Amino acid sequence: MHGRTADPGRPDETFFGPFRAMLRARLTPPAEGAQWTGIATAAAAALLRSGAVDAVLAVAPDPADRWRPLPVIVTDPAGLARCRGMRMGFAPLLALLAPARAAGYRRLAVLGIPCQVHALRALEADLGLERLYVIGTPCSDNTTTANFHRFLALLDPRPAAVSYLEFRTDYRVELRYDDGRPARTIPFLRLPLAELPADFFPMTCRTCVDYTNRLADLTVGYMGGDGDQWLLVRNDRGQEIVDRIAPQLLVGSPGQGGRRRAAVAGFLANTARAAGGLPVRRMPGWARPIAAFLQPRIGPRGLEFARARVEMKAVETVLHLRRAFPRRMRWMVPAHIWRLVAPYGLAPAAGEATPPPAGPDGTAERGGGARSLDAGAPRG
Ligand SMILES: Cc1cc2nc3c(=O)[nH]c(=O)nc-3n(C[C@H](O)[C@H](O)[C@H](O)COP(=O)(O)OP(=O)(O)OC[C@H]3O[C@@H](n4cnc5c(N)ncnc54)[C@H](O)[C@@H]3O)c2cc1C
Repeated sequence: MHGRTADPGRPDETFFGPFRAMLRARLTPPAEGAQWTGIATAAAAALLRSGAVDAVLAVAPDPADRWRPLPVIVTDPAGLARCRGMRMGFAPLLALLAPARAAGYRRLAVLGIPCQVHALRALEADLGLERLYVIGTPCSDNTTTANFHRFLALLDPRPAAVSYLEFRTDYRVELRYDDGRPARTIPFLRLPLAELPADFFPMTCRTCVDYTNRLADLTVGYMGGDGDQWLLVRNDRGQEIVDRIAPQLLVGSPGQGGRRRAAVAGFLANTARAAGGLPVRRMPGWARPIAAFLQPRIGPRGLEFARARVEMKAVETVLHLRRAFPRRMRWMVPAHIWRLVAPYGLAPAAGEATPPPAGPDGTAERGGGARSLDAGAPRG
């Protein structure tokens, strides 16, 4: 879909996947109810409005529980407004492909997280679509909506009134309420993560190898935006999407600051302890306010923050798979993950490395090993 794999000559492509442009951006004015400024839903609305697509597949809140994702087919641009904001939970979004096709929609846009986009790309050739636009968001981890309600109850005495939650790049979680209370933020270091069950995030998320949605035409996130949003325009189709909302966008170049090395190394040491069944090393209570004060000031920022998060995710993948499913590593850990963890002393042990892809004569091992996430034929 991008016509090429990540270019080793452009080091950020190892972290974020192939892209032709990387932007810091914000929708002006920001959309009411959006998770950040609403670029993702505005882009889909623009595709509908211009007639480039007949329908959009996205996720709206379940009427019975605002945190539960409800997959929807949207044909009216105004309908994208109700898809704004992040839901926590697994949404069977691609189950709507069949009804969308049955309704005669041949030009589709799909808004999805990486696991949804991977499955979509695997199905794409058989869908008989005239055109497909893929707007992806990054995704760190997901969990069941029920689990997420438990997390909210640990964070707040009146969790039912929490209307918004985000893990911001200034190392704080922001909570907003609809009961009149002002928004508040909690430093990451003060989150009650130790009280969450070990399986709070499923193994599939903890071993995910595509944080940044490398197969999307356009990735819309926030990690590299240093307080704004962060766009990865991956191919011509992604550029076409951005062009359609250009008048509403304020764009700039992503900045960076700080150094990630020590943060990622510390994360690795703690994850290794946890994966080995040892208790995670916690900071003493007195040191936490100091560290929480210092973290946004001296920790990695902007693109360096995004690189740190991607490396941490890669570290998690290797350590959790090694512990839980060592025999699957050679099929599940693509080469770019090994490149990301190499500076931290993690390297494939015997049998863990990806076998070379099958040659034209078919002599190499069947199955081809962990596939590149970026490859794909150029599209016409
Ligand atoms: C579980 C989860 C974890 C995320 N983690 C990160 C992260 O670590 N770093 C990062 O940069 N971004 C992350 N995102 C994306 C981020 O929350 C924003 O969606 C993104 O920055 C776009 O913001 P926006 O204002 O343009 O979105 P909006 O215009 O408000 O649109 C929100 C979009 O999110 C989609 N959506 C909401 N909930 C779900 C869901 N459960 N499953 C699938 N799609 C959903 C909607 O369909 C809609 O397209 C995550 C999203 C989810 C769902």
